[in-house]
Amino acid sequence: MSYAPPITDILDTLENVTGLGDLTSRAGFADLDAALARDILQNGADFVREQISPHAAAMDAEGCAFSDGRVRLPHAFANIWKGYVDGGWLGLAVPQADGGHGLPQLIQTAFTEMVCGASVPVSMLPLLVRGAAAVLAAYGDEKAKAEYLPKLIEGRWAATISITEPGAGSDVALLKTRARRQDDGSWRLNGTKMFISFGDHQLAEGILQMTLARTDATSGIGLFAVPVFNDARRNSTVTAQRIEHKLGLMASPTCVMQYDDAIGLPMGGPQDGLKAIFTMINMMRLEVAAQGIGIAGAATQAARSYAELRQQGSRNGTTVSIAQHPDVIRTLLTMQTLTDASRVLVYETAKELDLAQSGHDPAERERAARLAAFLLPVAKAGCAETAVEVTDLAIQIHGGHGYIRDTGVERLYRDARILPIYEGTTGIQAIDLLLRKLNGGGFDDFMQRIEAELTQVNDKVPATLVAEMRKALASGRECAEHLRPLIKSERDAALAAATPFLRLVYKLALGWAWLLMSRACKTSPEERHLCASFYAGQILPQVDLFRRQILANTAEWVRAETSTRSTAA
Ligand SMILES: Cc1cc2nc3c(=O)[nH]c(=O)nc-3n(C[C@H](O)[C@H](O)[C@H](O)COP(=O)(O)OP(=O)(O)OC[C@H]3O[C@@H](n4cnc5c(N)ncnc54)[C@H](O)[C@@H]3O)c2cc1C
Repeated sequence: MSYAPPITDILDTLENVTGLGDLTSRAGFADLDAALARDILQNGADFVREQISPHAAAMDAEGCAFSDGRVRLPHAFANIWKGYVDGGWLGLAVPQADGGHGLPQLIQTAFTEMVCGASVPVSMLPLLVRGAAAVLAAYGDEKAKAEYLPKLIEGRWAATISITEPGAGSDVALLKTRARRQDDGSWRLNGTKMFISFGDHQLAEGILQMTLARTDATSGIGLFAVPVFNDARRNSTVTAQRIEHKLGLMASPTCVMQYDDAIGLPMGGPQDGLKAIFTMINMMRLEVAAQGIGIAGAATQAARSYAELRQQGSRNGTTVSIAQHPDVIRTLLTMQTLTDASRVLVYETAKELDLAQSGHDPAERERAARLAAFLLPVAKAGCAETAVEVTDLAIQIHGGHGYIRDTGVERLYRDARILPIYEGTTGIQAIDLLLRKLNGGGFDDFMQRIEAELTQVNDKVPATLVAEMRKALASGRECAEHLRPLIKSERDAALAAATPFLRLVYKLALGWAWLLMSRACKTSPEERHLCASFYAGQILPQVDLFRRQILANTAEWVRAETSTRSTAA
């Protein structure tokens, strides 16, 4: 299976749906125009097709190794990393002031989609570096910035995000790693972190471990950049204890890391850790959404080409390819409509994040920040679930051959399964959406935006989509009105409806994406029209199922289950 980045669709979406042009007029992106964006992404597509895609399967098969306390990455990684750094891809959206190219997050996201279509493990290392650079730029002192920012942006140093511990997963407040201030004012860290991606390897001169640690016995959690050198200065205060044997992401080492009096550079004050780490977490949540569309796109591409070739069954007495069977057509359209619409959702989220930084005035920046905050958990969790569903369907299209390594789609399925788990599980994203975002203004802004789009439809937009979207919009509002008071009056009942509510908003958002695409896309308008109709008839009705789950008496079974379990205990 070889992946060809869907550059035509990506550019069509960027230019005609998401409105890249709106960004190029902003002060922060004055050097960018549509032609330059095209050139960059076309080069990016070439890089992915020529330098990453051909190695992805072999890297998965080889995996990572651990011996004598050191991690070894698959052999092809070093050359890919060199190409990534030399090609300037690392600094794409890093501000120029920090040594990057200062391009919009939107361009970075489109590039990331292509990298992830080829290999999610490859996409993770540069993401960690960009994320750590953003934290360092925002929270590091001048000395730390001067020493480590250039090293990160030039790709000489790598980085990690080190939050999770054996006893602290979704609940970060349970972490036990301690940071103690020394008499000379420096900080030393002790503890154990687990599941740390790229916690150790030898691709770089050193690794900056962005580590959360408790700074006092009560609520204080600080963030520390812990430098670990790969040269003669290497010490044994931060060591990899093992790597995990896991379902997928074989080319990405997942490490247990031990800290023994390791020196940490504070990123902000001793109580600022959670605020500081969210700079990185929010970038990563957008990236996981992009990982989702990358993998789903690769799976759809593989399934389509296999379905064209595989001859099974007959029509009118002639053996035909499976792509001609109505059930296979339905499956392929499900994959395509989820993937293409998810791309629009992710790009729109990225654009709002750009506008939150570079909007014309404070009001525009505030509105964009509100909408981005609302869309981010929906895009992260929704695209993650779509990646799992679409890669599962890709295996189904391949039949038994899909279950066998050679066709390559089982790798996509294995890699996709982590997306709804890391960077905040789907359940945690749903709670964030319900408790923090539903009343933050973003929901109402989003509903208004869909309503505005419904007033602009042209004859390219299927009437069925318009009708179904009006119903779905009403369902979204009804559920929000139901949940808002419930959060206060019966919190558990509201929490029990959190995931169906997130799924409802996601499917509604994809319907909005199909309104936009069928109206504005220039590539294959007939195909867009067909997909928009299919989505309206076959997928959007799921909104009503979620509506019914949300409006049902969720309190009843939560209470019953809780009391049954406590009685049994
Ligand atoms: C391959 C891989 C790479 C990773 N990379 C990193 C990394 O680089 N850095 C890092 O710090 N971590 C990393 N992680 C850790 C990852 O972020 C966590 O696994 C994730 O946050 C979930 O934590 P947990 O596994 O402890 O699950 P738990 O928190 O134990 O959750 C288990 C289940 O309970 C649910 N749940 C938990 N709390 C609640 C609640 N309050 N309400 C409702 N439901 C709840 C969850 O939704 C989930 O379904 C990685 C993990 C893996 C597997």
